Amino acid sequence: MNRIGIIGAMGSEVEHLREMMHGREETVAAGRTFYAGKIGNIDVVLVCSGIGKVNSAMSAQILIDRFGVDAIINTGIAGGAKDAKVRDVVVSTEAAYHDMELRLVALSHPYTEQFAADEALVKKAEKACAECGIACHLGKIATGDQFISDKRIKEDIVSRLDPNAVEMEGGAVAHVCAANRVPFVIIRSISDNADDGAEIDFDTFEQLAADDAAKIVVAMLKQM
Ligand code: SAH
Repeated sequence: MNRIGIIGAMGSEVEHLREMMHGREETVAAGRTFYAGKIGNIDVVLVCSGIGKVNSAMSAQILIDRFGVDAIINTGIAGGAKDAKVRDVVVSTEAAYHDMELRLVALSHPYTEQFAADEALVKKAEKACAECGIACHLGKIATGDQFISDKRIKEDIVSRLDPNAVEMEGGAVAHVCAANRVPFVIIRSISDNADDGAEIDFDTFEQLAADDAAKIVVAMLKQM
């Protein structure tokens, strides 16, 4: 891999990665600052995209078009589903929208309802979790433009998609990567259970979980 794009939605998800970068150069595009430099020996371009599908999609496309990245890692936090508990990490095997009719997604290129993550990147992420002593779940990420903090809404999403994590960007990054044939993986540390206690848990665990995800990214880059 020559150059890796890294997307986090919020400052809490990118700050420590940005501090670790050396030879950092800044470019502003679409109102976002893209940080190009190195983490260890690996060339990376890091961006804080903003929350939600459009923000993360445009950031992914800019990473591909303007910075020529060979792969994208989406790092951050998420609400946990099934057996993924707070501070566990979910590594995407695939990603899908929970707020769009999937048959309509599949009507246009790349003609799939769900987007498969790159197997080699998934393996690296799994290994990185083991090295960091963090519980790792391989599974689906469900993405939509909504903070899920209601048990019934979560149950509806789980019944339709069976994800391990719900969040607001991964599926859009995955969609852009699939359309451009760029390998991707989504690394999400669980900050809350996407249920009625989600707001409180989010405030308590946001930075801790974001740091765990960033740690996994750094451990992955060491394997490249
Ligand atoms: N309560 C916060 C919410 C920010 S949005 C606030 O009002 O400031 C939540 C961000 O964290 C998104 O980037 C999303 O990807 C992730 N996330 C974490 N838990 C989530 C959940 N339960 N539902 C949806 N997104 C979640």
